[in-house]
Amino acid sequence: MIRGMTASSSPAGARERAAQLRAELERHNRLYYAEAAPEISDREFDALLRELQELEAAHPELAAADSPTRRVGGEPLEGFRTVKHAVPMLSLDNTYSLEEMREFDARVRKALGEETVEYVLEPKVDGVSVSLRYERGVLALAATRGNGKEGDDITANVRTIRAVPLRISSDAPVLEVRGEAYLGRAAFVWLNAERERAGEPLFANPRNATAGSLKQLDPKVVAARPLSAVFYATGELNGVAFETQAEMLRELARLGFPVAKLWWTCRGIEDVIVRAEELQRREGELDYEMDGAVVKVNSFRRWRQLGTTAKAPRYAMAYKYSHEQAQTVLKGITLQVGRTGVLTPVAELEPVELAGSTISRATLHNEDEIRRKDIRVGDTVVIEKAGEVIPAVVSVAAERRPPGAVPFDLPAHAGGKCPVCGGDISRDPEAAAWRCENLDCPAQIRGRIEHFVSRKAMDIEGFGEAIIEALAGETRLRETVDDGLFGARTEEKILPPAVRDVADLYALTPEAIELRRPNRAADAKKQSMKLATKLCAAIEASKGNELWRLLHGLGIPNVGEGLARKLAGELGSLDAVMAADEETLARIPDVGGIVAGSIREFFRHERNRAVIEKLRRAGVRFDRVERAAETANPDGVFFGKRVVLTGTLAAFTREAAQEELRRRGARVVGTVGKTTDLVVAGEAAGSKLEKARALGIPVMDEAEFRRNLDESGS
Ligand code: AMP
Ligand code: ZN
Repeated sequence: MIRGMTASSSPAGARERAAQLRAELERHNRLYYAEAAPEISDREFDALLRELQELEAAHPELAAADSPTRRVGGEPLEGFRTVKHAVPMLSLDNTYSLEEMREFDARVRKALGEETVEYVLEPKVDGVSVSLRYERGVLALAATRGNGKEGDDITANVRTIRAVPLRISSDAPVLEVRGEAYLGRAAFVWLNAERERAGEPLFANPRNATAGSLKQLDPKVVAARPLSAVFYATGELNGVAFETQAEMLRELARLGFPVAKLWWTCRGIEDVIVRAEELQRREGELDYEMDGAVVKVNSFRRWRQLGTTAKAPRYAMAYKYSHEQAQTVLKGITLQVGRTGVLTPVAELEPVELAGSTISRATLHNEDEIRRKDIRVGDTVVIEKAGEVIPAVVSVAAERRPPGAVPFDLPAHAGGKCPVCGGDISRDPEAAAWRCENLDCPAQIRGRIEHFVSRKAMDIEGFGEAIIEALAGETRLRETVDDGLFGARTEEKILPPAVRDVADLYALTPEAIELRRPNRAADAKKQSMKLATKLCAAIEASKGNELWRLLHGLGIPNVGEGLARKLAGELGSLDAVMAADEETLARIPDVGGIVAGSIREFFRHERNRAVIEKLRRAGVRFDRVERAAETANPDGVFFGKRVVLTGTLAAFTREAAQEELRRRGARVVGTVGKTTDLVVAGEAAGSKLEKARALGIPVMDEAEFRRNLDESGS
């Protein structure tokens, strides 16, 4: 410390050294918290801080509000002063349902008159919200959200948070930034361990610990708690302006504010949904708890156009991920092979009640997630059901782990082979998944056919699980033969798979199907043949299907039913979709960069192109597009209406009813809300009907529905 001693012995030297130390300390803070790239150890940091403290003690005239020494906490306070927020801190509308996310997007598009809206998707941080006010680059005030209009002045406490810069390189008269204070996962564990040692009550969760800390009147206590913070918004701004959320986030990061490590700009709501799902999978990469994602319109000009309600902005929506939970025992892990070959680990559970149904299986996502959560067979696990998502294992009750439980290792578990075909498996680093490499794997073929014939794709009736399995795999056939010489005897024949890809379906003959019918032995030969012929006819009839059904059925990653309809409507033929470059695709409403990329990627594969050529040769139509709303009668009862179907209709399947409505220009939506125009309620309609009644939305029963369908033609 010779250097410090000599430099600081004169008052001018002391001032200079203090300034140097402050700049150094803030720089290292920033490297540590905002950039996660520290250059010096904690010890070296503490030594610099101590030097500055000693310097300020020896020269009290050097003390400054923005000095890093203030982070250790000043004098205890009597209480918190109330401060008014110049710009209110609003709440967010939220939903658990993807359908409502799409409705949010529809409202935004309508209000803006835009076909595709650019959004930012970011984590919804589950901390304690704070607003920081910088005046000419110096932290002048930190406040809690309070009731949104007024909060508490917690500046002394927030100053102790090392992730919060005390000074930033901006000379704007006012720059308010908003975000969440939080306790990181490791910090929380450490803090509770300390409290346990000291015999103090433990905190229930990081959020409570953070809220409790920020309400401490003694800043020294707060300083001893390793709080952190992350920022995602601004409040009052004067002398500085941003045009988009993305620009603002980048600028905050540049100024030294920690911002979320995972956030994306997305074109259209389908891209948003892909990212929201990715965020949920990658939650473990964040150091804080997250209770969902927030989607915000990117452009601030559009924010002003959309405005806010009294409570929440119209340009943003929180998509919450959770939560009904239950505990049960993980009896085993099976590996399912899907249509893309991915080996998905599935939890086999001791059956348990959850959100009104009995659950005996749940998803484990992938190998990385199992490792991260350290889930082992035999463990007592917590399962969760979130909205429409399938149940998932979210954590382990580690204290109830039986002795001898071993960490999960997917390739070892699978014995190094595909559990279905015995083929090689390999790890796909991008998807965090193991895949069966054998494209002829019966499980993959089965998955592709199941998807192709499903209701929301080619909708071919008569395909049960068992017949699909029989067509895609080898069939053992027992036949009684009588050659007249030795009398009747049973012979066993093995038939090869009849279908290797979806195009092979169109080459099936009634005879080929009949030989593989699972109930063959039980039915009379004539009856069996009749059923096989019927299935064959249904396959034949599907050749004339609308293009969107085919597009969806092909199983292009990220292309669901809705998007398939859009692509079909916009481009008109499969050849046009195949020929479209990424730019053309990305211009279509709801098709963002990600989706455009996966469509291109799909058609680049030789194998997929070959299947398509086979479909063409078989006579499958590639260009049937019905312009439903355009041919619909605009005076019809259903035209332009948002309709919800609920309960069971006697004369229609759900799909058929939807189709009838669409043909008459209606939009069929999944949930009842204020914007719903009409509810069609069949037998045993439940909560949706109740909600419609409560909101005063017109309801039709099946008889009225049919009458109105007839009257409004098709
Ligand atoms: P709620 O309290 O459920 O109405 O949610 C609104 C609150 O979520 C906001 O006031 C913020 O404190 C908080 N929040 C967390 N993460 C974000 C984010 N990325 N963007 C906006 N608000 C967020
Ligand atoms: Zn396989």
